[in-house]
Amino acid sequence: MAESPLTTHERVASSAIGVAVVRRDEHGEWIATAANRHFFKPLQAQRIESPAPAVPVKTLVPPAAWPGFQEALEACFTDADANAAERVGIAHGSGDLNWRYSLTALTPLACVSYVSGTATPLDILATTVAIGPAPSSSTHTQASNASRYRAVVDSAYDAIVTIDQSHNITLFNRAAENLFGYSAAEVLGQRIETLLPESVRAHHSQNVRKFADSPLTDLRPMSPPRMDESNSVFGRHRDGSIIPVEIAISRIDVDGQIEFTAVVRDITNRAQLMDSLKKQAVTDALTGLPNRREFLAFVDKVQHTQDALSVFILDIDFFKEINDNYGHHVGDEVLCVLANVGVSQTGEPSLFARWGGEEFVAALPGADAATAHRIAEQLRLRFEHQDFEHAWRLQPVPFTVSIGVVTREAGEHDVEALMKRADRALYRAKNSGRNRVEIG
Ligand code: GH3
Ligand code: MG
Ligand code: MG
Repeated sequence: MAESPLTTHERVASSAIGVAVVRRDEHGEWIATAANRHFFKPLQAQRIESPAPAVPVKTLVPPAAWPGFQEALEACFTDADANAAERVGIAHGSGDLNWRYSLTALTPLACVSYVSGTATPLDILATTVAIGPAPSSSTHTQASNASRYRAVVDSAYDAIVTIDQSHNITLFNRAAENLFGYSAAEVLGQRIETLLPESVRAHHSQNVRKFADSPLTDLRPMSPPRMDESNSVFGRHRDGSIIPVEIAISRIDVDGQIEFTAVVRDITNRAQLMDSLKKQAVTDALTGLPNRREFLAFVDKVQHTQDALSVFILDIDFFKEINDNYGHHVGDEVLCVLANVGVSQTGEPSLFARWGGEEFVAALPGADAATAHRIAEQLRLRFEHQDFEHAWRLQPVPFTVSIGVVTREAGEHDVEALMKRADRALYRAKNSGRNRVEIG
């Protein structure tokens, strides 16, 4: 069965560009006898289901564009070449909205105008094409993209903070609210320094500016630029506490404006773990004293200065017998007692450490041979006389110690050589009957 031919209105309504048929009514007013949904309305698509009655063209054209468009319509009547095939021009709307229009006389037959009495076209075919912003159908897409973007940002595990060119916060997601203790409403528009420890606030603007001017994006176009290599820094919680964070900062160009987006991750747990691992690596597990590695590093540091330095090695006499007579756990208790007394006897800036087994060492910066000997002798006596507070778990365990003391010679930098000398002095103390201090 043959389809019925389309009416003028149906042809116009099905067009992809803005189309209207325009004429003057008996009062000289511009009216549209047909107009499709794209006519001057790229952002407000609305369905025209049935032929609309003739409407004033003015009502179809945005106010800002109407004067220019009306002038062009008038020109169809007043210009010398009124029968020109097509007139084109640009109608400017508000903001970025512009339309390219074309006016074509549909009935270039001479008719008598009601207004001027001159020969005029009866109908004008006006077409419009929006130039500038995206057409109406994308408004919804943009809105849904924006809400999808917002949902992703808000559900992100990491805190996301964006700042503008003036370093004011423009985006603050939920994870950021949790991390920093501020609500987005409180910090939006505030300076980024609000989220930084006071100690770094002064230099921060300068750093951001340097980063903004850096050629990182050009050098590594495939990866987002990082502010620095380690990117472990500190943030400041609303309550003033300092939060260790890992941060990745990207520089983004938004319509010619530079913005920065920081993805921030709370690494408090990791930082605590790292701290405790670092501490474990230099601490003796039984006594809590610095271990041999820490002691050697300490002495090495002092050895590189011109400061006076004495060290001693202390060894518990007949410790094996303590283990044998009282048990290993009592032996452990003796080691802990010795550690506490050793620390209290040497004090700052000295370092009392466990050398290994039942041997302990002390580094005494600033102590000459006489001072070091005095300190070692006092310590020896305290053990001999049980001159310390300790609540023994089972019963008091008597013990004595032997100590070898040495003082660094001018220009001596070798830690091992120094410790060997101390060890020889200790050996002499043992061979001389134990419970003694010997100087090497
Ligand atoms: P000396 O007077 O010659 O130093 O004799 P000593 O018995 O103290 O020395 P020796 O080297 O013969 O024995 C040291 C003992 O220390 C042997 C070892 O089992 C014990 N020991 C080493 N480390 C620990 C520890 O962490 N806890 C306990 N309870 N004993 C330990
Ligand atoms: Mg020993
Ligand atoms: Mg011993």
